[in-house]
Amino acid sequence: MRIDSFAAPTMVTWQLTRDCNLACLHCCTDSAPGRALPGELSRGRALSLAREIAAAGVPYAMIVGGEPTLAPHFGEVCRALSDGGVLLKIETNGMAFDPGVLKGLRVRSVQISLDGASQETYAKQRPGGDLAKVLATCRAVVAAGLPLEITFAPTALNIREVAQVIALAVEVGAFRFNTGRLMRLGTAAKLWDRLEPSEEQYACFRAALDACRAPIELRYLPFSMEDELSGRKIEPSGTLLILPDGRVKVFAALPHTCADLSKRAFLEAWDEYRKAWRDPRVRRALDLLAARPELAADANRWIALDLAPHDLPVVV
Ligand code: SF4
Repeated sequence: MRIDSFAAPTMVTWQLTRDCNLACLHCCTDSAPGRALPGELSRGRALSLAREIAAAGVPYAMIVGGEPTLAPHFGEVCRALSDGGVLLKIETNGMAFDPGVLKGLRVRSVQISLDGASQETYAKQRPGGDLAKVLATCRAVVAAGLPLEITFAPTALNIREVAQVIALAVEVGAFRFNTGRLMRLGTAAKLWDRLEPSEEQYACFRAALDACRAPIELRYLPFSMEDELSGRKIEPSGTLLILPDGRVKVFAALPHTCADLSKRAFLEAWDEYRKAWRDPRVRRALDLLAARPELAADANRWIALDLAPHDLPVVV
Protein backbone atom coordinates (compact mmCIF):
# COMPACT_ATOMS: atom_id res chain seq x y z
CA MET A 1 0.00 0.00 0.00
CA ARG A 2 1.19 3.49 -0.81
CA ILE A 3 0.47 4.59 2.77
CA ASP A 4 3.02 2.09 4.10
CA SER A 5 5.72 4.53 3.09
CA PHE A 6 4.09 7.42 4.96
CA ALA A 7 5.54 8.09 8.42
CA ALA A 8 2.31 9.85 9.38
CA PRO A 9 -1.14 10.55 7.90
CA THR A 10 -1.30 13.15 5.16
CA MET A 11 -4.44 14.51 6.76
CA VAL A 12 -6.57 14.22 9.87
CA THR A 13 -10.35 14.61 9.92
CA TRP A 14 -11.25 15.25 13.52
CA GLN A 15 -14.86 15.23 14.74
CA LEU A 16 -14.43 17.39 17.85
CA THR A 17 -17.95 16.73 19.13
CA ARG A 18 -21.21 15.11 18.04
CA ASP A 19 -23.14 17.95 19.64
CA CYS A 20 -24.78 20.41 17.27
CA ASN A 21 -27.03 23.44 17.37
CA LEU A 22 -29.05 22.09 14.43
CA ALA A 23 -30.75 18.75 13.77
CA CYS A 24 -30.48 18.40 10.01
CA LEU A 25 -32.50 15.72 8.25
CA HIS A 26 -29.52 14.66 6.14
CA CYS A 27 -26.87 14.61 8.89
CA CYS A 28 -24.32 11.85 8.29
CA THR A 29 -23.01 11.88 11.87
CA ASP A 30 -26.35 11.59 13.74
CA SER A 31 -25.63 14.94 15.34
CA ALA A 32 -28.26 17.11 17.04
CA PRO A 33 -28.55 19.38 20.08
CA GLY A 34 -27.51 17.53 23.23
CA ARG A 35 -26.07 14.57 21.32
CA ALA A 36 -22.46 14.89 22.44
CA LEU A 37 -21.03 11.38 22.77
CA PRO A 38 -20.50 10.10 26.28
CA GLY A 39 -16.73 10.08 26.77
CA GLU A 40 -15.79 12.76 24.25
CA LEU A 41 -12.10 13.63 24.60
CA SER A 42 -11.32 15.93 27.50
CA ARG A 43 -9.75 19.32 26.89
CA GLY A 44 -6.45 17.96 28.21
CA ARG A 45 -6.38 14.94 25.88
CA ALA A 46 -7.63 16.96 22.92
CA LEU A 47 -4.78 19.45 23.36
CA SER A 48 -2.12 16.77 23.85
CA LEU A 49 -3.47 14.97 20.77
CA ALA A 50 -3.27 18.21 18.77
CA ARG A 51 0.38 18.51 19.78
CA GLU A 52 1.03 14.87 18.80
CA ILE A 53 -0.57 15.43 15.40
CA ALA A 54 1.62 18.47 14.81
CA ALA A 55 4.77 16.72 16.07
CA ALA A 56 4.09 13.81 13.69
CA GLY A 57 4.30 16.25 10.79
CA VAL A 58 0.67 15.96 9.62
CA PRO A 59 0.35 18.86 7.17
CA TYR A 60 -3.43 19.33 7.16
CA ALA A 61 -6.38 18.87 9.53
CA MET A 62 -10.09 19.18 8.93
CA ILE A 63 -11.94 20.16 12.11
CA VAL A 64 -15.52 18.95 11.92
CA GLY A 65 -18.40 17.77 14.09
CA GLY A 66 -21.28 17.85 14.86
CA GLU A 67 -20.75 21.58 15.13
CA PRO A 68 -17.06 21.75 16.11
CA THR A 69 -17.29 25.28 17.48
CA LEU A 70 -19.51 23.95 20.30
CA ALA A 71 -16.58 22.01 21.76
CA PRO A 72 -15.36 24.25 24.60
CA HIS A 73 -11.74 23.72 23.52
CA PHE A 74 -12.38 24.36 19.78
CA GLY A 75 -10.25 27.54 19.68
CA GLU A 76 -7.42 26.03 21.73
CA VAL A 77 -7.25 22.89 19.58
CA CYS A 78 -7.11 25.00 16.41
CA ARG A 79 -4.35 27.15 17.90
CA ALA A 80 -2.30 24.15 19.07
CA LEU A 81 -2.50 22.59 15.60
CA SER A 82 -1.73 25.82 13.82
CA ASP A 83 1.17 26.70 16.14
CA GLY A 84 2.58 23.25 15.36
CA GLY A 85 2.50 23.96 11.62
CA VAL A 86 -0.75 22.21 10.68
CA LEU A 87 -2.93 23.91 8.08
CA LEU A 88 -6.62 23.97 9.06
CA LYS A 89 -9.96 23.55 7.39
CA ILE A 90 -12.96 24.26 9.61
CA GLU A 91 -16.40 22.86 8.73
CA THR A 92 -19.24 24.71 10.43
CA ASN A 93 -22.94 25.24 9.87
CA GLY A 94 -22.31 28.98 10.32
CA MET A 95 -25.13 29.51 12.80
CA ALA A 96 -22.94 30.86 15.59
CA PHE A 97 -19.44 30.98 14.19
CA ASP A 98 -17.16 33.92 14.89
CA PRO A 99 -14.30 34.00 12.36
CA GLY A 100 -12.35 36.13 14.86
CA VAL A 101 -11.49 32.96 16.78
CA LEU A 102 -9.23 31.94 13.88
CA LYS A 103 -7.34 35.24 13.74
CA GLY A 104 -3.65 34.70 13.12
CA LEU A 105 -4.02 30.94 12.57
CA ARG A 106 -2.94 28.94 9.54
CA VAL A 107 -6.33 28.42 7.86
CA ARG A 108 -6.69 26.94 4.41
CA SER A 109 -10.45 27.38 4.39
CA VAL A 110 -13.69 27.61 6.29
CA GLN A 111 -16.50 25.47 4.88
CA ILE A 112 -20.13 26.39 5.48
CA SER A 113 -23.19 24.38 4.46
CA LEU A 114 -25.83 26.07 2.32
CA ASP A 115 -28.62 23.61 1.67
CA GLY A 116 -31.16 25.93 0.16
CA ALA A 117 -31.51 29.25 -1.59
CA SER A 118 -34.65 30.23 0.31
CA GLN A 119 -35.32 30.25 4.04
CA GLU A 120 -38.21 27.85 3.49
CA THR A 121 -36.11 25.17 1.80
CA TYR A 122 -33.09 25.75 4.02
CA ALA A 123 -35.11 25.36 7.22
CA LYS A 124 -37.00 22.34 5.88
CA GLN A 125 -33.72 20.45 5.57
CA ARG A 126 -32.06 22.17 8.54
CA PRO A 127 -34.86 22.63 11.10
CA GLY A 128 -34.16 25.66 13.26
CA GLY A 129 -31.68 27.01 10.71
CA ASP A 130 -31.61 30.67 9.77
CA LEU A 131 -30.39 31.27 6.22
CA ALA A 132 -29.89 35.02 6.71
CA LYS A 133 -27.67 34.37 9.73
CA VAL A 134 -25.60 31.81 7.84
CA LEU A 135 -25.17 34.12 4.85
CA ALA A 136 -24.01 36.86 7.25
CA THR A 137 -21.42 34.41 8.64
CA CYS A 138 -20.27 33.60 5.10
CA ARG A 139 -19.72 37.30 4.43
CA ALA A 140 -17.93 37.74 7.77
CA VAL A 141 -15.58 34.86 6.93
CA VAL A 142 -14.65 36.47 3.61
CA ALA A 143 -14.33 39.91 5.23
CA ALA A 144 -11.90 38.39 7.74
CA GLY A 145 -9.71 37.32 4.81
CA LEU A 146 -10.47 33.60 5.23
CA PRO A 147 -11.04 31.47 2.10
CA LEU A 148 -14.66 30.27 2.06
CA GLU A 149 -16.00 26.98 0.69
CA ILE A 150 -19.69 26.16 0.41
CA THR A 151 -21.09 22.66 0.59
CA PHE A 152 -24.49 21.51 -0.64
CA ALA A 153 -26.11 18.18 0.31
CA PRO A 154 -28.73 17.39 -2.35
CA THR A 155 -32.01 15.88 -1.18
CA ALA A 156 -35.47 15.63 -2.67
CA LEU A 157 -36.22 18.80 -0.69
CA ASN A 158 -33.57 21.10 -2.13
CA ILE A 159 -32.03 19.59 -5.25
CA ARG A 160 -33.95 21.86 -7.61
CA GLU A 161 -32.32 24.92 -6.05
CA VAL A 162 -28.74 23.99 -6.81
CA ALA A 163 -28.22 26.72 -9.44
CA GLN A 164 -29.54 29.38 -7.07
CA VAL A 165 -27.35 28.11 -4.25
CA ILE A 166 -24.28 28.26 -6.51
CA ALA A 167 -25.25 31.86 -7.34
CA LEU A 168 -25.50 32.62 -3.61
CA ALA A 169 -22.09 31.04 -3.03
CA VAL A 170 -20.61 33.32 -5.69
CA GLU A 171 -22.42 36.33 -4.22
CA VAL A 172 -20.98 35.80 -0.71
CA GLY A 173 -17.48 35.41 -2.12
CA ALA A 174 -16.84 31.65 -1.84
CA PHE A 175 -14.02 30.26 -3.96
CA ARG A 176 -15.30 26.66 -4.07
CA PHE A 177 -18.63 24.78 -4.14
CA ASN A 178 -18.65 21.13 -3.01
CA THR A 179 -21.40 18.62 -3.63
CA GLY A 180 -22.12 15.06 -4.79
CA ARG A 181 -24.68 12.34 -4.24
CA LEU A 182 -26.30 12.30 -0.81
CA MET A 183 -24.57 9.85 1.51
CA ARG A 184 -26.76 7.18 3.08
CA LEU A 185 -25.32 7.62 6.55
CA GLY A 186 -26.59 8.65 9.97
CA THR A 187 -29.86 10.57 10.11
CA ALA A 188 -30.02 10.60 6.30
CA ALA A 189 -30.16 6.80 6.28
CA LYS A 190 -33.05 6.82 8.75
CA LEU A 191 -35.00 9.31 6.60
CA TRP A 192 -33.86 7.89 3.27
CA ASP A 193 -37.35 7.38 1.80
CA ARG A 194 -38.08 11.05 2.37
CA LEU A 195 -34.73 12.46 1.34
CA GLU A 196 -33.35 10.42 -1.55
CA PRO A 197 -33.61 12.34 -4.83
CA SER A 198 -35.00 10.40 -7.80
CA GLU A 199 -32.66 9.35 -10.61
CA GLU A 200 -34.39 11.92 -12.79
CA GLN A 201 -33.64 14.66 -10.24
CA TYR A 202 -30.03 13.50 -10.04
CA ALA A 203 -29.74 13.61 -13.83
CA CYS A 204 -30.95 17.25 -13.91
CA PHE A 205 -28.67 18.08 -10.98
CA ARG A 206 -25.64 16.55 -12.69
CA ALA A 207 -26.49 18.31 -15.96
CA ALA A 208 -26.76 21.64 -14.13
CA LEU A 209 -23.34 21.09 -12.56
CA ASP A 210 -21.75 20.01 -15.84
CA ALA A 211 -23.17 23.08 -17.61
CA CYS A 212 -22.41 25.57 -14.86
CA ARG A 213 -20.02 28.36 -15.84
CA ALA A 214 -20.29 30.37 -12.62
CA PRO A 215 -17.02 31.96 -11.49
CA ILE A 216 -16.40 29.43 -8.72
CA GLU A 217 -14.54 26.13 -8.51
CA LEU A 218 -17.09 23.29 -8.61
CA ARG A 219 -16.12 20.04 -6.87
CA TYR A 220 -18.46 17.13 -7.39
CA LEU A 221 -16.22 14.21 -8.37
CA PRO A 222 -16.17 11.47 -7.28
CA PHE A 223 -19.92 11.95 -7.53
CA SER A 224 -20.93 9.08 -5.24
CA MET A 225 -19.54 6.89 -2.53
CA GLU A 226 -19.54 3.96 -4.97
CA ASP A 227 -17.30 5.92 -7.35
CA GLU A 228 -15.01 6.76 -4.46
CA LEU A 229 -14.90 3.16 -3.26
CA SER A 230 -13.65 1.81 -6.54
CA GLY A 231 -10.44 3.84 -6.10
CA ARG A 232 -10.24 3.44 -2.35
CA LYS A 233 -10.21 -0.34 -2.51
CA ILE A 234 -6.83 -0.27 -4.20
CA GLU A 235 -5.34 2.64 -2.31
CA PRO A 236 -6.57 3.49 1.17
CA SER A 237 -6.63 7.14 2.03
CA GLY A 238 -3.86 8.72 4.08
CA THR A 239 -6.53 10.39 6.22
CA LEU A 240 -7.14 9.42 9.82
CA LEU A 241 -10.78 9.95 10.83
CA ILE A 242 -10.99 10.63 14.57
CA LEU A 243 -14.35 10.31 16.33
CA PRO A 244 -15.29 12.66 19.21
CA ASP A 245 -14.34 10.08 21.86
CA GLY A 246 -10.97 9.38 20.26
CA ARG A 247 -11.77 6.21 18.36
CA VAL A 248 -10.32 6.02 14.86
CA LYS A 249 -12.40 4.78 11.95
CA VAL A 250 -11.07 2.61 9.17
CA PHE A 251 -13.36 4.20 6.57
CA ALA A 252 -16.24 6.67 6.98
CA ALA A 253 -18.86 4.39 5.41
CA LEU A 254 -17.84 1.28 7.41
CA PRO A 255 -18.57 0.73 11.11
CA HIS A 256 -15.09 -0.56 12.00
CA THR A 257 -12.80 1.33 14.34
CA CYS A 258 -9.14 0.39 14.61
CA ALA A 259 -7.69 2.39 17.52
CA ASP A 260 -8.65 4.49 20.51
CA LEU A 261 -6.78 7.75 20.95
CA SER A 262 -8.10 8.21 24.47
CA LYS A 263 -5.68 5.40 25.36
CA ARG A 264 -3.17 5.24 22.53
CA ALA A 265 -0.59 7.57 21.04
CA PHE A 266 -1.33 9.13 17.67
CA LEU A 267 1.36 7.29 15.70
CA GLU A 268 0.33 3.96 17.24
CA ALA A 269 -3.15 4.65 15.86
CA TRP A 270 -1.64 5.31 12.44
CA ASP A 271 0.04 1.88 12.56
CA GLU A 272 -3.26 0.27 13.57
CA TYR A 273 -5.00 2.02 10.68
CA ARG A 274 -2.52 0.68 8.15
CA LYS A 275 -2.85 -2.80 9.63
CA ALA A 276 -6.63 -2.56 9.44
CA TRP A 277 -6.51 -1.95 5.69
CA ARG A 278 -4.75 -5.31 5.31
CA ASP A 279 -7.40 -7.11 7.33
CA PRO A 280 -9.48 -9.44 5.13
CA ARG A 281 -12.62 -8.42 7.05
CA VAL A 282 -12.14 -4.82 5.92
CA ARG A 283 -11.51 -5.86 2.33
CA ARG A 284 -14.61 -8.04 2.32
CA ALA A 285 -16.62 -5.26 3.91
CA LEU A 286 -15.54 -2.82 1.20
CA ASP A 287 -16.49 -5.29 -1.54
CA LEU A 288 -19.87 -5.79 0.06
CA LEU A 289 -20.38 -2.06 0.48
CA ALA A 290 -19.57 -1.41 -3.16
CA ALA A 291 -22.20 -4.00 -4.15
CA ARG A 292 -24.77 -2.88 -1.59
CA PRO A 293 -24.23 0.82 -0.75
CA GLU A 294 -27.27 0.76 1.52
CA LEU A 295 -25.08 -1.05 4.10
CA ALA A 296 -23.47 2.33 4.84
CA ALA A 297 -26.57 2.95 6.97
CA ASP A 298 -24.79 0.90 9.68
CA ALA A 299 -21.61 2.98 9.56
CA ASN A 300 -22.34 4.83 12.80
CA ARG A 301 -22.87 1.59 14.76
CA TRP A 302 -19.18 1.46 15.51
CA ILE A 303 -17.46 -1.81 16.30
CA ALA A 304 -13.80 -2.30 17.15
CA LEU A 305 -12.12 -4.33 14.44
CA ASP A 306 -10.71 -6.61 17.18
CA LEU A 307 -14.27 -7.54 18.10
CA ALA A 308 -15.68 -7.81 14.57
CA PRO A 309 -16.63 -11.37 13.61
CA HIS A 310 -14.25 -13.16 11.25
CA ASP A 311 -16.89 -15.15 9.45
CA LEU A 312 -19.23 -12.29 8.58
CA PRO A 313 -18.46 -9.46 6.19
CA VAL A 314 -19.32 -6.39 8.25
CA VAL A 315 -22.98 -6.13 9.10
CA VAL A 316 -23.43 -5.63 12.84
S1 SF4 B 1 -25.43 18.26 9.13
FE1 SF4 B 1 -23.95 19.49 10.25
S2 SF4 B 1 -25.16 21.18 11.08
FE2 SF4 B 1 -26.58 19.59 10.50
S3 SF4 B 1 -26.93 18.34 12.36
FE3 SF4 B 1 -25.27 17.39 11.18
S4 SF4 B 1 -23.40 18.25 12.03
FE4 SF4 B 1 -25.10 19.59 12.66
